[in-house]
Amino acid sequence: MYNILIINAGSSSLKYQLFEIESSEIIAKGLAERIGIEGSMLTHSAKDKEKLVITEPMPSHLEAMKLVLKALTDPEYGVIKDMKEINAVGHRVLHAADKFTQSVIINDDVIAAIRDCIKFGPLHNPANLMGIEACRANMPDTPMVAVFDTAFHQTMPRKAYLYGLSYEAYTKYGIRRYGFHGTSHKYLSSRFPKLIGRDKKDLKFVTCHLGNGSSMCAIDGGKCVDTSMGLTPLAGVPMGTRCGDIDPAIVPYLMKEMNLTPDQMSNYMNKQCGMLGLSGVSSDFRDLWAAAENNNERAKIALEVFCYNVKKYIGAYAAAMGGLDGIVFSGGIGENDARVRKLCTEGLEFLGAKLDPERNKGRDKEMRISADDSRVEIWCVATNEEFEIAQETYELCCK
Ligand code: AMP
Repeated sequence: MYNILIINAGSSSLKYQLFEIESSEIIAKGLAERIGIEGSMLTHSAKDKEKLVITEPMPSHLEAMKLVLKALTDPEYGVIKDMKEINAVGHRVLHAADKFTQSVIINDDVIAAIRDCIKFGPLHNPANLMGIEACRANMPDTPMVAVFDTAFHQTMPRKAYLYGLSYEAYTKYGIRRYGFHGTSHKYLSSRFPKLIGRDKKDLKFVTCHLGNGSSMCAIDGGKCVDTSMGLTPLAGVPMGTRCGDIDPAIVPYLMKEMNLTPDQMSNYMNKQCGMLGLSGVSSDFRDLWAAAENNNERAKIALEVFCYNVKKYIGAYAAAMGGLDGIVFSGGIGENDARVRKLCTEGLEFLGAKLDPERNKGRDKEMRISADDSRVEIWCVATNEEFEIAQETYELCCK
């Protein structure tokens, strides 16, 4: 029996899941929140067990991790007897720039490389490192793997990853497109071909990971050839609160007009724009639809802008790949919002992509939503990043 602990550490939180390889199931999961601030709390739930809430001070991730292990091995609420039953730990890490093309076993060099990428992921990478250090201290003999959000996109050709800046901006400062949500796109890149019974080597398709953060990925022959997020996860389609692609000249212009520092401008573009900024209602699509049904014009505008941009990317990627065999919708919005899927594919019949309105209303986790006479297969596929992380950690540490 192999158990893989998956860790996603934020600056004041630590999310975990214990994944059982044989059953492909999450047997326990939880969240430590308010780490380092007053009111620290751990919420833990396990298969067939009652929920456990621990309110104990957690000055740092170290104490949080201690409590996670305590909960997992608790005779009443836990699922394992000893932490030795955790065979390996897989850590979600945001940014590896171009240092890693795949997941790696964590050692001092890997830690140094993650630290080196803090400049590109100032919010996430330091938190990811705290999670790694906390595990190392609490379970020094357990092998650990870093699974990077950027790794899957490292196969992009340079014409896709270079910006039209000076070449020195790339060579000197590392400014290029890196892309994110790699674990999700990678999972979809192998799941979709299996679902339609084709070899991924023969397929060109677009994966649309649409959630609070959204990104698009062009996959040709099983490899990423382009993606919508860039140096950071701010680029691409407009998102819940992120602006997505904008004219770069807007940045200095608005900084002057609104009297903002670089950090304030960054905060504005990350937290106050996108669906929230456009609608003035919410970043959540359920709220947007509810407002749109009440004739809120700005909620309608936000939804229109979002779907138009997703569609534009699908068209652009079909052109970039010179063909299109599939469109895959995933993420909280892609998996649940039939109206968004309809708007994002409306008018793509010229590419051979035709939605079936009835199938599109389905609720299955994996379902074909294209019409029988659609040349392009359109699917809705629930992403499974935990599966991908656990699988990669298992492959590297347990085989
Ligand atoms: P994610 O970041 O992938 O967890 O996606 C979160 C987003 O999915 C939320 O902000 C909602 O906008 C959206 N979402 C989740 N469930 C639904 C639903 N049933 N209908 C429409 N949107 C949904």
